Amino acid sequence: MIIGSHVSFGKEQLLGSVKEAISYGANTFMFYTGAPQNTLRKSIDENLSKEARKLMKENDIDINNVICHAPYIINLANNDESKYNFSITFLKGEVTRCEDLGIKYLVLHPGSSVGLDRNIALDNIVYALNQVLKSETKIMILLETMAGKGTEIGRSLEEIKYIINNIIEKGKIGVCIDTCHLNDAGYNIKEFDNFLDEFDKVVGINYIKCVHVNDSKNDINTHKDRHANIGYGTLGFNTILNVITNTRLKDVPKILETPYIGEHDEDKERIYPPYKFEIEMLRNGIFNENLLEDIRNYYKNLK
Ligand code: FE
Ligand code: FE
Ligand code: ZN
Repeated sequence: MIIGSHVSFGKEQLLGSVKEAISYGANTFMFYTGAPQNTLRKSIDENLSKEARKLMKENDIDINNVICHAPYIINLANNDESKYNFSITFLKGEVTRCEDLGIKYLVLHPGSSVGLDRNIALDNIVYALNQVLKSETKIMILLETMAGKGTEIGRSLEEIKYIINNIIEKGKIGVCIDTCHLNDAGYNIKEFDNFLDEFDKVVGINYIKCVHVNDSKNDINTHKDRHANIGYGTLGFNTILNVITNTRLKDVPKILETPYIGEHDEDKERIYPPYKFEIEMLRNGIFNENLLEDIRNYYKNLK
């Protein structure tokens, strides 16, 4: 199983990400090239990238399974002039950063229509992506399936299909399915094989290049997008285990984006990453009822 989590990309850039992934026992990971909610970016340090690639090799992390995620504030759906052009330019920069790092996949939220007709918003996304994806582009952009919060585009497989259908460079576009988002968008992934059949009919299963593995705090079709820890949401441990062990997605990287565990300790609020424990639990295939306590105890004893 190719499984990892969201990790940070700090002072040590990709090298820091690799070290964090290794600390979770992961064999892949996903990072943002800076804060996910802003577009301030430092240039890529090739020395750190080299060291990162070496460390990946030593730890059996295949760089072809590593994922980059574009920041949320890129919006290719709304053509409000300055923001639209900024989003396109920034996305081109992200593509270049991925190419410099040697990363193959860049996950992107398709965008939000805001005040626009959804069909126009879809065409805006298509136009923008065709500006970014050229024959010489070395990476693939993965459209993430969205929960449908607010005016998000990408809440249905038909919208994803529409975008893909209109991309000129077909080999450079793929899909990242997110279990929380699919549930919140109204897809029943408790019957995951049925869902995959539908996905295959509408989009084509071979377009799936990444799975975001999250439980959901909300019921199906609520369009909320609030992630829960594995087994602590409405999907439940077995549903998620079933998704990530499905043989049809065997070679697809699985990435956890579950929330950090909070704790009130010595009058301070602390938060701990759940990933080491969630990865272990999913590899074992057995739900750990004491997961949250185990995480708190582990990180408490570390400091
Ligand atoms: Fe995302
Ligand atoms: Fe996601
Ligand atoms: Zn989400």
